[in-house]
Amino acid sequence: MSDPVSPDGTIVVVGASLAGLRAAEEVRHEGHSGPVVIVGEEIHVPYDRPPLSKQVLSGKWDAERIGHHTPDVHDTLDLEFRLGRRATGLDIATRAVACDDGSELAYDGLVIATGAATRRLPGTEGMAKVWMLRTLDDCLGIRADLAAAGDAPRVVVIGAGFIGSEVAATCQGIGARVTLLEAHHTPLARVLGDPMGQMCADLHRANGMDLRCSVTIDHLESDPTGPDPVTVVLDDGAHLPADVVVVGIGVTPSVDWLTGSGVELDNGVRCDGSLFAADRVVAAGDVANWLRPGTGRPARVEHWTNAAEGGAACGRNLLAGTAAATPFDPVPFFWSDQYATKIQMIGLPNADDEVVVVSGSGEEGKLVALYRAGDQLGAVLTLSQPAKLMGYRPLLAAGASFDEALAHARS
Ligand SMILES: Cc1cc2nc3c(=O)[nH]c(=O)nc-3n(C[C@H](O)[C@H](O)[C@H](O)COP(=O)(O)OP(=O)(O)OC[C@H]3O[C@@H](n4cnc5c(N)ncnc54)[C@H](O)[C@@H]3O)c2cc1C
Repeated sequence: MSDPVSPDGTIVVVGASLAGLRAAEEVRHEGHSGPVVIVGEEIHVPYDRPPLSKQVLSGKWDAERIGHHTPDVHDTLDLEFRLGRRATGLDIATRAVACDDGSELAYDGLVIATGAATRRLPGTEGMAKVWMLRTLDDCLGIRADLAAAGDAPRVVVIGAGFIGSEVAATCQGIGARVTLLEAHHTPLARVLGDPMGQMCADLHRANGMDLRCSVTIDHLESDPTGPDPVTVVLDDGAHLPADVVVVGIGVTPSVDWLTGSGVELDNGVRCDGSLFAADRVVAAGDVANWLRPGTGRPARVEHWTNAAEGGAACGRNLLAGTAAATPFDPVPFFWSDQYATKIQMIGLPNADDEVVVVSGSGEEGKLVALYRAGDQLGAVLTLSQPAKLMGYRPLLAAGASFDEALAHARS
């Protein structure tokens, strides 16, 4: 049980990004008048990450354009930022967060919004021109290395998940010669299943991408001042020289600072259906593995909308306390922009769901595919059909059967 946080109590938010900012905004909108302190490891005020693999990476947008708010909005919300500072520990008994400068922050309510950090390819620590993309600084670093390599730089992207695929498409769009490597037999097979994974592979190839699947990396060789700054060596002996390498092999939730705190850690921060992780402690965004209402199963979702909606929901629930809290039960949604195609999905698919394409095809660049989870509609994937996608939202929210979804498709 968690009591409501009193209106003049101190709320500490750890993680100065989307979920943390939305939580802070929400407590202010709900009338909380006490201090709201946001601790963030990055030096930047909260900014939007999706453009980092798209418009900012291509140079179409400046970094200034992706701030969630201008400083005057932060002032209006009366948020106290502690940036460039890392939380290192949590004591839920005394209600205090320890920081890397030795300071302690006492709280009446705590929001955990530390997101996730990119997985590093073993053996690449400290290698020049080898990047992972999570932060604005990463994005600007990649951009600088691309620019320094001159016209048509050679780029190898390791991992054809959403971010790797976007990076590859964006780099190709600015004239780079890109090779995209994937360990599985298709991109995204584990997320979207085989048929839609194959469709993603077709999309890459139709756009002229050199996509190589079922590839195993042996090691990377570094020669920063030579003609081939990095060489990716595959286990079949192939050598792929590159000016820039971007590794996109997934993320892990940022929970190291919570070890031993008493907050349950299991693929992120384990939360109940209302995002409570402990007394007066809530979590949201990429870090939260919450008990999804109606499913009996935990879910951790790495999508923008989940972080935005979860952040707001956990802020409201923190103020309300567990007795008056509202279950967090969104219809999951994500998008990915690759080449001129917008891939969008609502719902959470299982990789072994049956997939039925009800209109269009990958070749046409327009498609609607339904995922069957037992007798129910589990998820809907579209290519460049945003209006059609949203037509299925009420069905998913109402737990519609697969037959109802098919009838909707034919209507
Ligand atoms: C390049 C890129 C492109 C993306 N594109 C899309 C897209 O097209 N569509 C989509 O749906 N989603 C996309 N996403 C995913 C989306 O951006 C994330 O789901 C969202 O940012 C998660 O927000 P968050 O606040 O939970 O975590 P994060 O954004 O990861 O923020 C967590 C913050 O906490 C900080 N932190 C971590 N540990 C500590 C600590 N101990 N102390 C203090 N601070 C700490 C981190 O430095 C970070 O600033 C993309 C992500 C990336 C990286």
